[in-house]
Amino acid sequence: MFFLTSAAKKYTLDYMDTFLRNVINTAIESAKKAAEYHEIPVGAVIFSAERQEIAAVCANRTEQDHDPTAHAEILAIRAACATLNQTRLTDYDIYVTLEPCPMCATAIAFARLRRLYFGAYDVKGGGVDHGCRVYQNAANIHVPEVYGGIAQTQCEELLTAFFKTLRGDNP
Ligand SMILES: [Zn+2]
Repeated sequence: MFFLTSAAKKYTLDYMDTFLRNVINTAIESAKKAAEYHEIPVGAVIFSAERQEIAAVCANRTEQDHDPTAHAEILAIRAACATLNQTRLTDYDIYVTLEPCPMCATAIAFARLRRLYFGAYDVKGGGVDHGCRVYQNAANIHVPEVYGGIAQTQCEELLTAFFKTLRGDNP
């Protein structure tokens, strides 16, 4: 579940909810396109709330690029830094449809992203709330604010549908 920790007014909560959903929907659409190329459907958006500006939208490309590090988050960080011509993304937040793996969680820290919003939890491969819990164990890296479970059902369905198709359960 996603909780705002501050005692925000209802107006703010409603606004935030709509706002988060819009951005995560962009990540979901990107993930859906990746699935068409037989990529595990994970999408990431790097967004500045202050500037209302998307710096990058990327999905997994590991199969297409023959690159095991071509996860959505890594590609989005690279694209945003290249577009903005900067090495740190301090004013930006990353929205991902799935809990980042340890590699991506670490890259998010290196990029100094302000917040991480993610959709589905990844019990097996996640490195934020599961596995090595990068941000809890890292002594010397930047730690973003983390909000999990954004549009969780939608993000989970994306992956469930993909793996069902892989197994041939779907027409
Ligand atoms: Zn990853």
